[in-house]
Amino acid sequence: MTESVARTIARDRRPSREADATADRYVNLWREAEAIGTTRVDAFVLILRTRGCYWADQKGCSMCGYAKDTLGRSATPEELGTQIDQALLRYRGEPYVKVYTSGSFLDDREVDPSSRRRLISAFEGRATRFLFESLPEFVTESTVGELRDVFHGDLEIALGLESTQPDVLLRLVHKNAPPKEYLDGADRVRQFGAHPKGYLLLKPPYLTEDEAIRDVLTSIRVASPKFDTLSVNPVHIQNGTVVEWLFRRGRYRPPWLWSVVEVLRDGSRDRHGARLVSFPTAGGLPRGPRNCGRCDRTVLAAIEAASLDQAWDALDELDCACRATWKTQRALEPLGADSS
Ligand code: SF4
Ligand SMILES: [Zn+2]
Repeated sequence: MTESVARTIARDRRPSREADATADRYVNLWREAEAIGTTRVDAFVLILRTRGCYWADQKGCSMCGYAKDTLGRSATPEELGTQIDQALLRYRGEPYVKVYTSGSFLDDREVDPSSRRRLISAFEGRATRFLFESLPEFVTESTVGELRDVFHGDLEIALGLESTQPDVLLRLVHKNAPPKEYLDGADRVRQFGAHPKGYLLLKPPYLTEDEAIRDVLTSIRVASPKFDTLSVNPVHIQNGTVVEWLFRRGRYRPPWLWSVVEVLRDGSRDRHGARLVSFPTAGGLPRGPRNCGRCDRTVLAAIEAASLDQAWDALDELDCACRATWKTQRALEPLGADSS
């Protein structure tokens, strides 16, 4: 792919000029099943509308189209205040709260420090766990400490490590920093009294299915001592991304759900006590991780149950005729066979 194609893709995913009209409305809000340890709980999930990830402007990761949901400029404290007030009206005391910004919650350009404190303090004494995402460079004693001062439940900070292999991370995922920055960031999260969660990407572009599985298994082995939770995120096709560009040209297939199953089964033996989870987005859909269409719902349900309960045995009992197809394609793909 040439630089000019990459620039065109990056331009396509920028927010529209009309984005300003939605500056005081959050992007989305929902409830979902989660677990704290192995206790199942309800989670309250909020996506705020912010300027979004600065790295998405500069280069952007090959699978990430979240810039579409952003303002393209910093939201003012007043706009964020309105979004927060509207969201709080719908909070029903769920113990687990997750707040996403399509970037880094700790980047002042996305959420100013007083809005951060205001939001998190609203859950003090009501939620037991508060999760947000950040690039590691923003995880400092001061940014985390100011939140610890106003929220005494568990703070969980998710870092998009994606892969512990430098080549995969920098050349294929296009992250802004090498894996060491993310591993060191996880150390700082712990040092500042919070829980590090790591995202691992299953099947960045240009890896075969088999290489992608081995990449995640290596990452689980290397990263698990540093993280309390590792979440395996199989790629789904987002608009305005390198992965979409390849997908449209028949050069990328989202990972099989069998690959997720294998990563969870094998990775669960090598995770140094870290929780290992996967909640595939767009599972079973054409642009998401999928099997043959007949077994997808059953396999997705088993992946979710295994993730919530940290119990892996039921994954061994899954089967479908397409499992043999997956195995054959895995073996033939390195020889140039079609994997669609
Ligand atoms: S994956 Fe994370 S770092 Fe990469 S562009 Fe998206 S929000 Fe930014
Ligand atoms: Zn099947």
